[in-house]
Amino acid sequence: MAREYLKKASLHSTSDATDVTATVQEILSRIEAGGDAAALDYAARFDRYDGPVVLSAEDIAAASAQVPDRLKADIAFAHDNVRRFAEAQKDTIRDTEIEILPGFVAGQKAIPVDAAGCYVPGGRYSHVASAIMTVTTARVAGCRHVMACSPPRPGVGVAPAIVHAAHVCGADTILAIGGVQGVAAMTFGLFGQPRANILVGPGNQFVAEAKRILFGRVGIDMIAGPTDSLILADATADPAIVAADLVGQAEHGYNSPVWLVTDDRALAERVMELVPGLIDALPQVNRDSAAAAWRDYAEVILCSDRKEMAATSDDYAPEHLTVQAADLDWWLERLTCYGSLFLGEETTVAFGDKASGTNHVLPTSGAASYTGGLSVHKFMKTVTWQRATRDGARPVAEATARISRLEGMEGHARTADVRLAKYFPDRTFD
Ligand code: NAD
Repeated sequence: MAREYLKKASLHSTSDATDVTATVQEILSRIEAGGDAAALDYAARFDRYDGPVVLSAEDIAAASAQVPDRLKADIAFAHDNVRRFAEAQKDTIRDTEIEILPGFVAGQKAIPVDAAGCYVPGGRYSHVASAIMTVTTARVAGCRHVMACSPPRPGVGVAPAIVHAAHVCGADTILAIGGVQGVAAMTFGLFGQPRANILVGPGNQFVAEAKRILFGRVGIDMIAGPTDSLILADATADPAIVAADLVGQAEHGYNSPVWLVTDDRALAERVMELVPGLIDALPQVNRDSAAAAWRDYAEVILCSDRKEMAATSDDYAPEHLTVQAADLDWWLERLTCYGSLFLGEETTVAFGDKASGTNHVLPTSGAASYTGGLSVHKFMKTVTWQRATRDGARPVAEATARISRLEGMEGHARTADVRLAKYFPDRTFD
C-alpha cells in the first residue's frame, strides 16, 4: 500500500530568503565597518536597548538574585544532565596513532577551538535551555573562552534566568545583544571580546542567515530552520499522549511542521479529533502558533506496516523523532535519519529540549539526513600529525617523488629527492 495522507501540509517552510539575505548582509557590513558603535545602533533600533553590552559581575549577581530558588534548582538539574552527557561524549573522542609503515607513525588529535560564541535566542520566548545546551557543551569540550549573547528586552535587559543559566554553565562573558548584531559582535570581536572561532545556537531567520553568510570565516554548528517533529505511533500508542506531543511541538512557531506517521487508521482519526481541542486550550500566544502550524504544515500519514513507517520517517529526516510503538529496540536499530530520538511514551521531545541531557540544538529541514546536532565534537577540531625515522621515510619519499612528477609538481618531487639524497647518498634512482 502506498502512503495515504489523512492530512497534508498546504505550505512548506521556506523563508523569503532574498529579503532576509539583503537585510542581514547590510547589517553585517555596517557593523564590520562601524564596530561597537554600529552594533549599538542596531541594538537601539531593533531591541530599544541602550544599557551595557558586556555584563559585569554585579549585573550577573543582580540577575541571579531575581531567579526563584526552585528555578535555580531546575537549571542546576538540567545543567548537570547536559554536562554529564557531554562528558560521556568527550570520552568517545580519543587521540590515536598508528605505525603506517615500519618507522612511519601517523596520528590524530582532537583540539578544542579557542573561542566559542553561543547565541541564546530571546525574542519571543526566554530560551534558558539554549544557554544550558550551548555554553555547557562548549565548556566541556575545553574551549578557552566561551561567550554567550542574548537579546535584551527594552528597559529590562537579558532575561535574568538566561543570565543566571549562562553564568552557572560556565560562560566567561555574557553579552546583552541579540539578532544579527549579537552574531556580529562575537564574530568580529567587538566589545573587547576575542573573535569567535565557532558560532553555535538556534535563532530566528535573521540569526540563521547571519551565521550562514559568515560561515567560512567562522565555523558554525548548522543552519537552522523552523523546528520540526515527527511521531511514529502504532495501535499500542495512547492517542491523548500523541495529540499532546504534536500540539506541544506545534507551539514553536506558525511554520513548525509536526507529522504523525502510523499504521493504525483508528489512532490517526482519534488524534486528529483531539488536537484542535488541545490547541484551543492553550494560552493565546501559544495557541496562535500551534493553530497555524497545525492548519498549514501538519501531516498525518497512514502506512501499511512498520517498515513503511520507518522508511517514511527516514525520508522526512525529522529534527525530533518520537516512537510510541511496540518493540522499541526494532525502531532504534532500524531508524537512521533524525536529530534526536525519543523512544517510548515515557520520554518526550520537551524532556530533551529542556532537561534530560541530550542536546536540543538539532538539524532541521531534512538536514538530519547528513548530520547530527550540537555535541562536544562540534567544538573540537580533528587534526592529524606524522613523524618518521629516515628508513621509515624512504618508501614514502620514493612514492611521493613519482606521484608528484606524474602530476607535474616538480617542486613537490624535489622535497622528497632532497631527503633521499641526504639520507641515502648511495641509493640508485629508478
Ligand atoms: P532571536 O533571539 O532569535 O531573535 C531576536 C532578534 O531578532 C532581535 O534581537 C532583533 O535584533 C532581531 N530582529 C527582529 N526583527 C528583525 C528585523 N526585521 N531585522 C533584523 N533583525 C531583526 O529570538 P526569536 O525571534 O524569538 O527566535 C527564536 C528562534 O529560535 C525561533 O525560531 C525558535 O524556534 C528557535 N529556537 C530553536 C531551538 C532549537 O533547538 N531548534 C531552540 C530554541 C529556539
